[in-house]
Amino acid sequence: MSNIFETTVDDAVAICKKVLPLMSRRGIPTIPQNYAVWFEYVAAGNEALKDEIDALMEVESGFSPAACRSIYERYFVDDHRAEVDGIQGAVKVTVESVLRELGALGNDIGHFAQVLEESGLSLTSELAQDDLRSLVVTLVAETEVTQKRSREVEGSLASMADELTALREQVDRLSRDSQTDSLTLVANRRAFDAALKSMSAEALANQLPLSLIMVDIDHFKNFNDTHGHLVGDQVLRFVAQEMKQVFKGRDLLARYGGEEFAVLLPATPSSGGALVAEQLRSIIEAQSFTDDKGNGPLSVTISLGVAELAVGETTTEFVGRADEALYASKDAGRNRVTLANKPNTENRLTG
Ligand code: GH3
Ligand code: MG
Ligand code: MG
Repeated sequence: MSNIFETTVDDAVAICKKVLPLMSRRGIPTIPQNYAVWFEYVAAGNEALKDEIDALMEVESGFSPAACRSIYERYFVDDHRAEVDGIQGAVKVTVESVLRELGALGNDIGHFAQVLEESGLSLTSELAQDDLRSLVVTLVAETEVTQKRSREVEGSLASMADELTALREQVDRLSRDSQTDSLTLVANRRAFDAALKSMSAEALANQLPLSLIMVDIDHFKNFNDTHGHLVGDQVLRFVAQEMKQVFKGRDLLARYGGEEFAVLLPATPSSGGALVAEQLRSIIEAQSFTDDKGNGPLSVTISLGVAELAVGETTTEFVGRADEALYASKDAGRNRVTLANKPNTENRLTG
């Protein structure tokens, strides 16, 4: 649905009839925030949200209050809007004041040019000594005034440049925040989706390989069930930070959703992707996690699936193959890496 406010009453009623049973079957309270999430799910307006909910549906206790809140916050709350509006306002005020200063300086310089022109005209005729003296006095005075004005404008331009630099830093931070998962401090799903799109287009255009690793923490539910959600959150942060050490350059590690991560490796064939995946697996296996109260050590393992982008497949199929490989790792006993099968694309037109 392109604009949700254009939904007709009939459509809204039809969606409502589907949403309410879905929510009630899963024991999800029909508060407005949860309703918005499920309305969007049924209206099929957002593919990433749909994938995330479909994945949670397979888990019995998937729709914990924390999971519902996390989905709502990530897909519906634009918590940066107020800040963006503030920065936009500040940039407007600064630019307008630069323009005012420059306009006033322009008038002053125009006046100065006129004085110089008139004195040039006087100098073409023979001047009496007194007249010459008063002309020189006027020129000195006018030059000093203009010089002072340009120094003033120079000062305000310098402070405006400082102000704009500070605003640019705020914009940079904001754009970093909107691409970052606030819990694990790695890239978020939004940043991953954008990178997947651009990196796969680039890989196909340059005929370079692109590998994707899907990572899922093993038996993560046990950490929540045994030690509580806060310890679960700390485990997520720990795994993300340990994995982050491995990456450099354009490699992108992102939180894909829940306790799943995804890694994009440009210019890397699946053999290289498998080596990186094995490195991640062994790093996490070798570390033990101790929570902030000193409880532990708890051993954490991850399962991984690796795929290389094939010509002719969509990004959804690419992610699907890496995901299947991940689930093969789970089926084979967890704490391992599986390489995805090559897709069957022979009959497909490429492009
Ligand atoms: P498997 O080895 O098969 O992956 O088992 P698992 O327990 O890791 O997987 P499952 O999918 O059964 O459970 C994942 C759990 O992760 C359920 C969900 O409530 C929890 N979860 C998702 N996001 C968060 C989060 O941000 N914080 C915490 N603490 N838990 C989360
Ligand atoms: Mg999972
Ligand atoms: Mg898991």
